[in-house]
Amino acid sequence: MLEIVPVKAFKDNYIWTLRDGKRAAVVDPGDARPVIDYLAREKLELVAILATHHHADHVGGIPALLERGRVPVYGPRGEPIESLTRAVGEGDTVTIPELGLSFAVLDIPGHTRAHIAYYGADCLFCGDTLFACGCGRVFEGTPEQMYASLEKLRALPDSTKVYCGHEYTLANIGFARSVEPGNEALGAREARDRRLREAGKPTLPTTLGDEKATNPFLRCLEPAVVESANKYLGARAADPVRELAVGRELAVGDARELVQHGGLEGGGAQVDREVGL
Ligand SMILES: [Zn+2]
Repeated sequence: MLEIVPVKAFKDNYIWTLRDGKRAAVVDPGDARPVIDYLAREKLELVAILATHHHADHVGGIPALLERGRVPVYGPRGEPIESLTRAVGEGDTVTIPELGLSFAVLDIPGHTRAHIAYYGADCLFCGDTLFACGCGRVFEGTPEQMYASLEKLRALPDSTKVYCGHEYTLANIGFARSVEPGNEALGAREARDRRLREAGKPTLPTTLGDEKATNPFLRCLEPAVVESANKYLGARAADPVRELAVGRELAVGDARELVQHGGLEGGGAQVDREVGL
């Protein structure tokens, strides 16, 4: 039976490990040591490595893992990742026959130029694009690309389990509450996720259904989200209403700026952490 286990790395990275009783595949192994230790402890054989984007905290452990035995390494076409055996993009399928798994590859640029996600078995591995109650910082792409990527993910079924690259949930919920203070689902989520963290447990995976109910970046048409973006724009733009009217993309782009500038409670903490990686 397939299990998906988070192996912790660095301060708040999760290396998602897909395993049965004997074999395992890992997603985004930024550090080899915790993976090697986990595989040894559980007596698992590594059979594949999947990477979502080129940042070191997601791929830095790949060379050391390969020194212990060659396995297929999948990652995005068009990003400088050492040791890929197969570069993939939208429309490709990645199969891991040893685990009976098959994933569709989705292009979700924005955080990086060619960031990809793996989707299959009702699971989504989306790296640093969609976070629980937040989204990744736009480093190499544009806000429009990030918006389109989030919309692509939002179109997946509500039941989809979402495995993100970092544990940012509580800080993100703080930000989301300042954007949408009247959202009752957010309050319930905060209580639940706070309990999980206090018990030392991950808040992930989340589900796409929960994200659609609470994540401001998947709720750009909600009046409260638009109003918050508009308030922020009002402080810096001559004609915020016209700017917002250009499209929902702007709402996302400017909501991102809220996070990047730490303009609202909770947002700054996430950015500081990620910039440090
Ligand atoms: Zn990243």
